[in-house]
Amino acid sequence: YDDRDGKIWMDGELIDWRAANVHILTHALHYASSVFEGERAYNGVIFKGREHSERLRTSAQLLDFEIPWTVDEIDAAKQQVLQANGLTDAYVRAVAWRGVGEDMGVASRKNPVRMAVAAWEWGAYYGDAKMKGAKLDIARWKRPSPETAPSQAKAAGLYMICTMSKHEAEAKGCSDAMMFDYRGYVAEATGANIFFVKDGEVHTPKPDCFLNGLTRQTVIGMLQERQVKVVERHIEPSELESFEQCWLTGTAAEVTPVGKIGDYNFEVGALAKDMVTSYEALVRA
Ligand code: PMP
Repeated sequence: YDDRDGKIWMDGELIDWRAANVHILTHALHYASSVFEGERAYNGVIFKGREHSERLRTSAQLLDFEIPWTVDEIDAAKQQVLQANGLTDAYVRAVAWRGVGEDMGVASRKNPVRMAVAAWEWGAYYGDAKMKGAKLDIARWKRPSPETAPSQAKAAGLYMICTMSKHEAEAKGCSDAMMFDYRGYVAEATGANIFFVKDGEVHTPKPDCFLNGLTRQTVIGMLQERQVKVVERHIEPSELESFEQCWLTGTAAEVTPVGKIGDYNFEVGALAKDMVTSYEALVRA
């Protein structure tokens, strides 16, 4: 991803893609003082762009740092990046972190806060699983308690267990892993929220120790418009057997049906398909 043409916005200016580098003593690299956003532009417009910019600032505040750019400025930076790279349909990655400064210890109040925005073309996150249903492994890592980590922050440090879980899943031929939370309830996938269907109702884990995704909120709204009952609650592992359909939601994943989690099978049913196509239509509307 580093050796290519293009422009990246970094600390207020557009620079060459290859020049968008940081020093090895960057605080974030050592202590995970970094937050980010994943966004998608459709027809040149970032879906919920403003909400993503707000979440980036909030994530930083949860990690005790302030991004020196307003929501408007962050929105403008993202548009500049899309334009400079001639992109209309793209994935947009904004990232903010503690840079190099006086501190090389755990504390980093004096280190400057840095920010960058890059964008590139990125197709279906789970490849052809969108039609067939993704296969998920069951992760051995658990989403931590909100007393252990700032679980509402989209913070780099929270992804360490996601990367490990996803690697194990892929080694077993799966597309992703479903994670339980610290209490043993069903939580989410490594980069997407999860939904289940049973008897015409939709059940989804209560986001009390993981990201309440913007896509998740959008899909709940779409279901409610259809008068489908959505129950946000704690879901026990033993219930997986009784669910008929399942899908994941996320900016990168969009809506992706799930065909299998561990030994449990799900059909790519009518409601799952409806959510896939209706979400596609909505983001382009
Ligand atoms: N959970 C995790 C761990 C994620 O990385 C993402 C993707 N940002 C989500 C959930 C879904 O969030 P959103 O719909 O806002 O992209």
